Amino acid sequence: MDQHLDDFLLSVELDKALENDLLNGDVDDDTDIEISPQYPENLTNLLQQAILDRATDVHIDPFGDKMAIRFRIDGIVHTKQKLAMAEGQRLLNQVKVAAKIDIEKHFVPVESQMRWLTEMGARDIRIVITPAGQRDAAHMRFMTTPEQFTSPESLGFSDQQQQQIRNAMKAQHGLVLVSGSTGAGKSSSLYALASMLELEKKIGVSIEDPIEHDMDHLRQIQVDEDHGLTMYEGLRVVLRMDPDVIIVGEIRDEHSAMIAARAAMAGRLVIATLHSTDSASAVETMHYLGVPYYVLGSTLRMIISQSLVRKLCMNCSTGRKLTQQETELFEHYNMAVPDQVYNSVGCNECGGYGHTDRLGVFEIATIGKDVSKMITHGTSHELIRDTFRSNGVKPVIVDALSKAAMGMASMEEVYQACWLDIAAIEEDKLQKNSDSDLVYNDSYTEELEYTD
Ligand SMILES: [Zn+2]
Repeated sequence: MDQHLDDFLLSVELDKALENDLLNGDVDDDTDIEISPQYPENLTNLLQQAILDRATDVHIDPFGDKMAIRFRIDGIVHTKQKLAMAEGQRLLNQVKVAAKIDIEKHFVPVESQMRWLTEMGARDIRIVITPAGQRDAAHMRFMTTPEQFTSPESLGFSDQQQQQIRNAMKAQHGLVLVSGSTGAGKSSSLYALASMLELEKKIGVSIEDPIEHDMDHLRQIQVDEDHGLTMYEGLRVVLRMDPDVIIVGEIRDEHSAMIAARAAMAGRLVIATLHSTDSASAVETMHYLGVPYYVLGSTLRMIISQSLVRKLCMNCSTGRKLTQQETELFEHYNMAVPDQVYNSVGCNECGGYGHTDRLGVFEIATIGKDVSKMITHGTSHELIRDTFRSNGVKPVIVDALSKAAMGMASMEEVYQACWLDIAAIEEDKLQKNSDSDLVYNDSYTEELEYTD
């Protein structure tokens, strides 16, 4: 084991040139992004409307003889407008010019960026132009996450959950993982966790791809694979920066998994996101990425697993009685069945969408001594999950149901976010029903025999 440990802890020789680049700020330099507040009126109006509607993405798509303008808001696509083809084409060209894309260039996908300066600060927008039939289509993604989307409260962490997270981070060393699928809001949570640390009193460094939100007192490094700055290379450099806290945008391969674990072993607090289905499976994922169980056992402090639900507009949502299936769902998790749950409606305040944001729903697993030991011994994730449950770690669906009971989310959103759990419960029920059918048939046969 010692040899493994030595290998594992052995510092990889640092790429000096890369380090110098980074320290001098040559790599993380976004001067190639166009800065221009003077966009034509149509484009400015479009962007302003997108911000007002809290859209994360804007799509401009040819649709018959029109151009459809569609916004993605809280994860759902809404058609905002259908412009006459000439007008839509003009708007698309304005996007191209703003992103420094040749307007004569057709039928090849092009990617670029633009920086839009608003009174509320700069918004970086990534632009992808792709051919669509005989026309072009555009996708614009707002890269910056506004301040309000990174506070623990607005993301849906309860006071108790925040306290639990603070306790886990108090140790100031070890590994805290935020796991979930793509689009589960992991990076927002990462910022929320960072905001719980007193970064002004620490050296905090992050390596991100992309940087979605500028944080005070955090040295943020943008991954730039074109210049050789991968997540792994960035992490290697970060380790030389005397950090107390390291934030890893995403553990996405063996190298970044190993180096994050190594940093945690060397006495740093490492907070990272990981693509995984739940807290127990996150251990398995890290092991699959090559981190030995004994390293995970000694470094893991907490695993947060999460998903997103749309937050109901408090102004217009209406209460209704629960269906039988919904009642059974609350009962299944031994939760008090609420008098009512809430549906989305739509009003002026929420722009008719019925929702005003998105909320995280969480499973927060503190890794105690018992689970540490299990991880060190390579215990299966099923057994680890059982231990979490007996230790009182509530699964994501319980958090989602309690948010539905409080009127923060609709049951439809709970079903959507937690469909895997619900499918498993339904399958269990079917299994039980077919088992009881068998029993019935057996006794029926016996009875027949008896009569004979
Ligand atoms: Zn409303």
